[in-house]
Amino acid sequence: MFIIFVGPPGAGKGTQSRRLIQYLGIPHLSTGEMLRDEMGNDTPLGHTAATYIQLGRLVPDKLIVDIVSKRLDEPAFRRGCLFDGFPRTLEQARALDEELFRHGASVTLAIELRADDVEVTRRMIERAKIEKRTDDTSETVQHRMAVFHSQTSPILEYYAKKNLLEVIDAMGTPDEVFERIQACLERRRNAVAG
Ligand code: AMP
Repeated sequence: MFIIFVGPPGAGKGTQSRRLIQYLGIPHLSTGEMLRDEMGNDTPLGHTAATYIQLGRLVPDKLIVDIVSKRLDEPAFRRGCLFDGFPRTLEQARALDEELFRHGASVTLAIELRADDVEVTRRMIERAKIEKRTDDTSETVQHRMAVFHSQTSPILEYYAKKNLLEVIDAMGTPDEVFERIQACLERRRNAVAG
């Protein structure tokens, strides 16, 4: 089962991902976390990524697709995973389809966490205080929001056309949002079961 979480920064992808991987028993693949690990380990890839991340820009597709593709070659990820923060462009969505096809698999479902920009910005400023992320300054937050609307939101249509998109209202407490996700998965499961 390969599930994708899509949503603007601050919509709760990280929080909901941690719950969903436990619930479904599949591994987590967060490109943001992978890049932060590279930065923390001072690798050349980390240095390159930092120049984009600190400006709130997307890291180039090729670099992201390469790290995801390596991860998908690991046995732990063969049977499925939850993608958090990937794909973020149409190019990445297409590359993911190819990559999964190579493994005899395909995307099971894309879950859009839909939240309004004002609420999402408020959440990110809170998170900046707690996590001290260098990319959560108010300028980069605004830029990341704009990047989401211009570069990432086209993938919603891409998955909708394939009938793989479910929209979840991400406003509410983490428990409320998770209940909606569970209900949606159950609906899908029942639909498949016939
Ligand atoms: P995240 O933790 O998912 O919010 O990602 C933090 C930052 O890492 C983003 O603002 C981007 O600069 C970069 N990043 C993470 N995932 C991707 C991706 N799939 N494509 C391009 N850049 C990414």
